[in-house]
Amino acid sequence: MSVDMEATGQGRFAVVRTSLSEEFAAQTTRLQQLTTAADASEAHERAALLFATRQSLDQISGALRRIAEGTYGTCEKCAASIPPERLEVLPHARFCVPCQQKHHG
Ligand SMILES: [Zn+2]
Repeated sequence: MSVDMEATGQGRFAVVRTSLSEEFAAQTTRLQQLTTAADASEAHERAALLFATRQSLDQISGALRRIAEGTYGTCEKCAASIPPERLEVLPHARFCVPCQQKHHG
């Protein structure tokens, strides 16, 4: 009468989904702090931070969406499985290593 969560798509990435959700919340807070900060002298630095924070939020929400859709951990280009070691380092990875390299080269 036990449900094998590891075998289901949702259960398989439950841990990464939790950590991505936490990261998403942290980045959202950060974004709010950055947008409400009133110190104009750091405007340039803040703009860079805002850009980076928005980019992370994009990447995290994309990863969360792929987990929900069941496509998480699969390369968006060649449909190969992204190695778990890579996902551990880069939880929001969308491509396998060869495709990522091609993408940049
Ligand atoms: Zn690929």
